[in-house]
Amino acid sequence: MALQVHPDILSLSPYVPGKPIDELQRELGLTRIIKLASNENPLGPSPKAVEALSRAQDMLHRYPDGGAYRLRQAIADRWKVAREQVILGNGSDEILGLLAKTFLTPGDEAIMADHTFVIYKMEVTAVHGKPVVVPLVNWTHDLESMLRVVTSRTRLLFLCNPNNPTGTIVSEEAVNRLMAKLPEDVIVVFDEAYFEYVRSPRFPDAMAYVKKGRNAIVLRTFSKIYGLAGLRVGYGISTLEIIDLLNRVRPPFNANSLAQRAALAALEDDEHVAKSRTVNVAGMEQLERGLGALGITSVPSETNFLYFDANQNGRLVFEALLREGIIVRHIDGAMLRVTIGQPDENAAFLQALEKVLHGEREAIARKL
Ligand SMILES: *Cc1c(COP(=O)(O)O)cnc(C)c1O
Repeated sequence: MALQVHPDILSLSPYVPGKPIDELQRELGLTRIIKLASNENPLGPSPKAVEALSRAQDMLHRYPDGGAYRLRQAIADRWKVAREQVILGNGSDEILGLLAKTFLTPGDEAIMADHTFVIYKMEVTAVHGKPVVVPLVNWTHDLESMLRVVTSRTRLLFLCNPNNPTGTIVSEEAVNRLMAKLPEDVIVVFDEAYFEYVRSPRFPDAMAYVKKGRNAIVLRTFSKIYGLAGLRVGYGISTLEIIDLLNRVRPPFNANSLAQRAALAALEDDEHVAKSRTVNVAGMEQLERGLGALGITSVPSETNFLYFDANQNGRLVFEALLREGIIVRHIDGAMLRVTIGQPDENAAFLQALEKVLHGEREAIARKL
């Protein structure tokens, strides 16, 4: 018998993950695959986090601390909020889902940009909410236009800052103007997965809005600069009221015990974070220079990735790079996103890209 499935669910398509490195290796018979597709830290995790994990075997048969006391306290201390203002997620992805479940009833609206983190639309649609999509302007969130689409059904506004996949930020000034005009009952979701990479002095202090009691939540993750993407742990900081509501929906053991231990150690390893930032800045310069030499200008980035126009069919460029053993992300049309890697990885990417683009030119020339 045919399953009865809501059209909202049928409208979704499964998230397409990057090909696992070992599978690609087997398929293409390549010895080295370089993955610059998911904005992971090329240096790996903090050695202190690895060390904390090596001492964790004795607790694997126990359920995790569902209240994640130590990690939440450490996060609260760092950001000068109460522990009760902190929620953990199985990745900050999960907190996005909790927000949708907690605050959207069918038909409620959630405002988001057109080119942004794909999970927002998925989570909103899965609970039968309505994504209200506002185009980016100059690859940047257009907060004025986002304000104009607010209605009495608006419950959430997603602000990915810096934005994935474009790498741009919205300034403190722009956020202040938004917050001054936005109805107070709309919850602003400041998704700051790349916060630790930001260098611009114009970046807003979103946490200040939480501290003032506005309906806002700041999301951060251990998956990016902290190098723990495989363990799945992220956090949100918000008002006591919002965290209390989210906790009613949160699965009790959503942050596993290994993740809690490693994240605690990683959070305290400022040295690893500083080193990761330095490597990223150098890698960004290397990539910008190299792309420039190929006639490509990338969008100025405040993250650990670059968004650029390949000036030709992006899917074909992506596939040709795969055959060279380089995994990047095709976004759409001619636009690609590349994660900043270690110097040798960046060099290999640039070399492969040159070969791919050059090859295309030769192929076109042959046809003429
Ligand atoms: C990577 C990323 C996240 C979080 O990922 P988790 O691994 O689920 O913590 C959230 N938002 C954006 C924009 C991201 O790029």
